[in-house]
Amino acid sequence: MSKYCRKYHPKLAPVHPSHSRVWKNLHKVRDAAEEQIHWQIGDGSCDFWLDSWMELGPLVHYYPENRGAFEEGRQHRPGLVISYELWHNNIPKKMSFLAWRLWNGWLAVDEILMKRGIPLASKCHCCEQMETLEHVFFTNPIADQVWAHYAALVGIRHVRINSLQQVIAAWSLSVSTKGHIKQVLPIVILWALWEGRNKAKHIAATYSFHQICSRVHNLLFDNSKANMNHTKFWTGESYLGAILGVTVEVKPQPAPRLFRWDRPEKSTLKLNIDATFKENRAG
Ligand SMILES: [Zn+2]
Repeated sequence: MSKYCRKYHPKLAPVHPSHSRVWKNLHKVRDAAEEQIHWQIGDGSCDFWLDSWMELGPLVHYYPENRGAFEEGRQHRPGLVISYELWHNNIPKKMSFLAWRLWNGWLAVDEILMKRGIPLASKCHCCEQMETLEHVFFTNPIADQVWAHYAALVGIRHVRINSLQQVIAAWSLSVSTKGHIKQVLPIVILWALWEGRNKAKHIAATYSFHQICSRVHNLLFDNSKANMNHTKFWTGESYLGAILGVTVEVKPQPAPRLFRWDRPEKSTLKLNIDATFKENRAG
C-alpha cells in the first residue's frame, strides 16, 4: 500500500494496470470510503486541503491553486511499509482506511495538530492527558481494558500495547488464514475506539468499556453475517463466535473409514503398527 501512496495523499495516489489487485479494488471504493470519514477542525482532518473537515467538503475543491504552495512548505514523511493484514474482504473498507491512517500517523488528534502549529488546549475525552494517537487507541485506561478483554477471549497474552505494529504482531500474525477473526477483530476494535472518542468529544456521549465492547460486538455481528460466516475464519475461536451469536457454517465431518488387514504378497514384508492418528498426533 505504501508503495502506491508513498508520494501521494491516499486520495490522489494513481492506479496503473500493473498495480496489485488489492490496490485496484481499494482505488475503486476510495471515494466512497473517504466520504464515510469526516473530520472536524481541532480533532479530525490530517490533511488541510484534501480531507473533508468542513461540511462543504475538501478545501482543495474550492482553492485548487493554493495547494501547491502549501505543499512545498511541508515535509514529506518517509514511506512506511504497510502491513497487508489491514486489508481483506472481511474487513469493511472504512475500517481498513482508518487503520491505515493510524499506521501512517494520518489522524489529527490534538498532539498532531499542535505540532502543526494549531493552538489548542488539549484535553483527552477520558482524562486530563494530552491527546495522542497512542493514548486514544491503546494506552488510555478504557482502551487498555478493551484490548485486554478481547485478548483474553481469543487466548492472546495481553501486554500493554502502544502501537498498531504491536497489535498486528500479536494478533494478525498469530494466524495464517487471511481474514481470520484474529485479523478482523483488532481493526474493528480500532474503529470502535475512534468512533467512541469522536462521540465523546463532539456530542459528549458516554465513553466506557461497556459502550465500546457493545459497539465491537454489533459491528462484528453485522460483518460476520455479511462476509465471514465460513468456519475457516473462526478456526480455534468457536467460543468467541458463540459469544457473538455468529452462526458459522459447519463442514460435515468425513465418515469414518474401515481398514482391513490384507496378507502381503509373498517375499514382501509388511510392518504392522498399532496406533491411532489424529492430524499431527499419534497415540
Ligand atoms: Zn484520556
